[in-house]
Amino acid sequence: MSDSMISVTNLTKRFGHAIAVDDLTFSVNRGEVLGFLGPNGAGKTTTMKMIAGFLKPDLGSVHVDGIDMAQNPIEAKKRLGYLPEGIPLYGDMPVQSFLTFIARIRGFNGSQLAHRIAEVIADVQIGDVLAQPIHTLSKGYKRRVGIAQALMHDPQALVLDEPTDGLDPNQKDQIATLIEKISQKKAIILSTHILTEVESVCNRVMIINQGKVVADQLPTAMAEVSEFHNSVRLQVNECSPEEIEQHLRGVDEVADVLYNKSNGSFRLISKNGSSLVDRVWEVAQSNGWDVRTLSEEKGRLEDVFRQLTGKQST
Ligand code: ATP
Repeated sequence: MSDSMISVTNLTKRFGHAIAVDDLTFSVNRGEVLGFLGPNGAGKTTTMKMIAGFLKPDLGSVHVDGIDMAQNPIEAKKRLGYLPEGIPLYGDMPVQSFLTFIARIRGFNGSQLAHRIAEVIADVQIGDVLAQPIHTLSKGYKRRVGIAQALMHDPQALVLDEPTDGLDPNQKDQIATLIEKISQKKAIILSTHILTEVESVCNRVMIINQGKVVADQLPTAMAEVSEFHNSVRLQVNECSPEEIEQHLRGVDEVADVLYNKSNGSFRLISKNGSSLVDRVWEVAQSNGWDVRTLSEEKGRLEDVFRQLTGKQST
């Protein structure tokens, strides 16, 4: 049996002449939490809508636990929970009534219904707003009610479009902990613009740009692709920057030397991403430099995001 829970094949969507999703193929296995990243307009929401069966692809297919979303949407959707972007909930309904409504749609009744609602309420911590109409909730609570409806039927596959958008740092942590708790037996795709969140929550990262996959790796491996991986920061007392730069440029392993005038520090870029710090220390020693700071820096996902998408991360 394949562990592939969500499988996307040649998925394509155009709006007019513009191509929003361009022949995407990937699958997500049980136990994977895929961080789905990309600049604004990259095609994340469009892809997630198609996976969830809310938007019809022009080409390609989506399978959830082996079931074709186009051929058998009811069975496929039974296995999938979806948190759409924004907050498209029934505003006038109190939270408790909304959850009861969702649980009924998902086939629960009797004591099973009450039990499942209570579990979900505890998981997303919305017990103190049950009587409130949804439109009166804060953005963060609305988001949590949205997550509650996505989780109600305990689906094997979860598609969460910016699940932590609008949450405060404590609430973000709670959602991260919840995702970690439920992730072992599920396949999860989540989009976010917060890259540190990806590093803490996801065990796989995919970056898309203009509807195409430009990277798909473990978060740590992805960060190592950064041109700044294993770069070295160096500050030296009482020495001419020009002289230091000249020496550093002569070191084989150094690809580039960047000088920051405002704090008098150098950043040395490693030629092949391998560790440079010992070599720089040798050079400093042999030249008798009075070293104030010498530190090695790891690559950051944020840098790779910029490298691959040519845009500022948001
Ligand atoms: P963001 O990070 O801003 O949410 P995204 O990666 O989710 O962006 P999408 O919302 O999927 O991007 O949009 C991809 C492209 O498709 C964009 O150029 C967008 O303007 C376009 N698009 C999306 N929905 C429609 C629509 N209903 N009609 C026309 N164009 C659309």
